[in-house]
Amino acid sequence: MKIALRRCLIATLAGLGAWAGAQTAPPPLTAEQQRFRETYKELVEINTTHLTGNNTEAALAMQKRLLAAGFKPEEIQLFEPFPRKGNLVVRFKGDGSKKPMLLLAHLDVVEARREDWKTDPFKLKEDDGYFTARGASDDKAMAASFVSILSQLRREGFKPSRDIILALTADEELGDVPSNGVFWLINNQRPLLDAEFGINEGGGGQLGKGKPILHRMQVAEKMYTTYKLEVRDVGGHSSLPTASNPVYELSGALVRLGAYRFPVKLAEVTRTYFARSAEFETGQMAEDMRAVASGQPSEEAVDRLSRTPLYNATLRTTCVATQLLAGHAENALPQSAKATVNCRILPHDDPAEVEAALRKVLGGERITMTASNPPLKSPPSPLRADVMAVVEGLTQQMWPGVPVVPTMSTGATDSRFLRNAGIPVYGVSGIFSEPSDARAHGLDERVAIPRLYDGREFMYRMVKQFAQ
Ligand SMILES: [Zn+2]
Repeated sequence: MKIALRRCLIATLAGLGAWAGAQTAPPPLTAEQQRFRETYKELVEINTTHLTGNNTEAALAMQKRLLAAGFKPEEIQLFEPFPRKGNLVVRFKGDGSKKPMLLLAHLDVVEARREDWKTDPFKLKEDDGYFTARGASDDKAMAASFVSILSQLRREGFKPSRDIILALTADEELGDVPSNGVFWLINNQRPLLDAEFGINEGGGGQLGKGKPILHRMQVAEKMYTTYKLEVRDVGGHSSLPTASNPVYELSGALVRLGAYRFPVKLAEVTRTYFARSAEFETGQMAEDMRAVASGQPSEEAVDRLSRTPLYNATLRTTCVATQLLAGHAENALPQSAKATVNCRILPHDDPAEVEAALRKVLGGERITMTASNPPLKSPPSPLRADVMAVVEGLTQQMWPGVPVVPTMSTGATDSRFLRNAGIPVYGVSGIFSEPSDARAHGLDERVAIPRLYDGREFMYRMVKQFAQ
């Protein structure tokens, strides 16, 4: 009895805590929010992992919802170039006075094992102020938002000035694979994605102590490439060491790489990023950021900023050793030593120059170096005045005083295929989260419930404004 009472009290307090920011009970959901919630729940509960899931099932479910909202069958196309890897492309026709815009979200999710999670990752958990499930944020929050937004606009009889294209795709999480939906569509159905610009994941708002502090808009991302290094030798008996041991030779090269810093290279996006980020910093950090933003930072300022991994990776290209393998027996001289080096190249850097610099740093004529994954060029999207005006205007409307900060992702999204094809893409969602709560790809992935509804509202207004 006592235990039951205590549990009840704790449950009540937890429930209150979730809405403490608002000080009041959450307002009841509007009809559109309810529909959105159903779409979101259905989508996260369809397993779309690579190993056991089915992307086509999710694409079909979203197709059904759009048809129910009034879309005609000929406005929606489903492509399944690989089994279980379906992609959906919807075209909401405009009057043609403006060029089309593209809304992009991937339907696939990273693997999630039931035994690792507190609850079933493919059942939407709604409590403590959070939606928890695999894909709760990455990227089914945006996918479900876009489906719900197009449905609402259709129900409202909205007549867009431009075509609104929605692409819901497969295998973003697998990277450069033939079944990656955006890669496949660009190569096989290019006219369907042709747009003046696109909106995708990669951005989002940042909370500080529960309050929105900045709204990130991703306009660029680094290129990804991997090198396999190897040193070979004749080997021999370990009782008779020689001077040509490949373990020592490769280790020496990797130690040099570890100490090497690629040169600082700034572009419009990273300068603007540091200039706007300086507003939230104080003291030395703020000064260093302003110095970098000015384009003429001192070496000391660069050194201090480089101590933060994110700023270091924003300032320069990075190449890091990630795997090592050597020798075949504890009592034999190694015949081979291998290492993997993963590079993240600035979008405004030259991959050939990076490779040449890497070779020079590693030295050693016996070290062979092969690129296992050539970089795909992905030029930064320009900070277009029309796009910035809409994103900044709506951000001020919904979160007064919160600045929009253009960012370059150090990781990769599907935007690279589109930017490479000449379509500028902007990563922006209006969904805010705490940096300490970054659980995408990890355990108990979640999104704060009111933040998701706000993000969906932001995206609704944004799409409408772009297509007016
Ligand atoms: Zn994603």
